[in-house]
Amino acid sequence: MANDRVIMTAILSNLQATRAAVSRAVESAGRQVADVHLLAVSKTFPAEAVREAYRAGQIAFGENYLQEALEKIEALRDLPLEWHFIGPIQSNKTRAIAENFAWVHSVDRLKIAERLSAQRPAHMPPLNVCLQVNVSGEATKSGVAPAEVEQLAREVARLPHLKLRGLMSIPSPAPGEMQQRRPFAQMRELLERLKSQGVAVDTLSMGMSQDFPAAIQEGATIVRIGSAIFGHRT
Ligand SMILES: *Cc1c(COP(=O)(O)O)cnc(C)c1O
Repeated sequence: MANDRVIMTAILSNLQATRAAVSRAVESAGRQVADVHLLAVSKTFPAEAVREAYRAGQIAFGENYLQEALEKIEALRDLPLEWHFIGPIQSNKTRAIAENFAWVHSVDRLKIAERLSAQRPAHMPPLNVCLQVNVSGEATKSGVAPAEVEQLAREVARLPHLKLRGLMSIPSPAPGEMQQRRPFAQMRELLERLKSQGVAVDTLSMGMSQDFPAAIQEGATIVRIGSAIFGHRT
């Protein structure tokens, strides 16, 4: 218990420090603070940690593992939270995702998007989606190839119960800000190209605890930050 208390106190100060660091990066990029949103990635941490972050003013939370996420969503029904699914999606999991999340960042094929749209309950607003892109140096094999982004974006944009918002990426770790910026710059160019081709998009989901300043320099509108807020995952 005493140990839990220490962790909960750290969440408040970590969140404040993270927000301050995000603001500094936004200012040094010459951008507006209101244009960059902080998604707190709570995977592996308990519902009580999410509740503590909510007390510190955090509303949007990201989860990677469906079963774990559903348990937290259920335990925290009393709070007005916004849940984002950011992990790999198996097709037999789409219904629960469509029914329980406001956003999905990790759509990388049409079949998954079609299922999410078909399974989104009619009484809910459209599910916000980002396409996960496999830019150079991507750590995982997930993600659509850059050359295929435009076609997938056009197909997803037509689905009735989805709202295409933009692009997401998870570049592999790189040591310095200059190296970190390269894949993020590629993402910015991809988003700009989509816009110039008439696809309505407004979101770049990129940047994690180790590289969010570089992502913000290149135009991130959502940074997904876990360990800097909740501590190291075991
Ligand atoms: C875990 C995870 C994050 C957060 O990573 P940290 O390094 O803990 O900030 C962000 N995005 C995705 C897709 C993740 O899986």
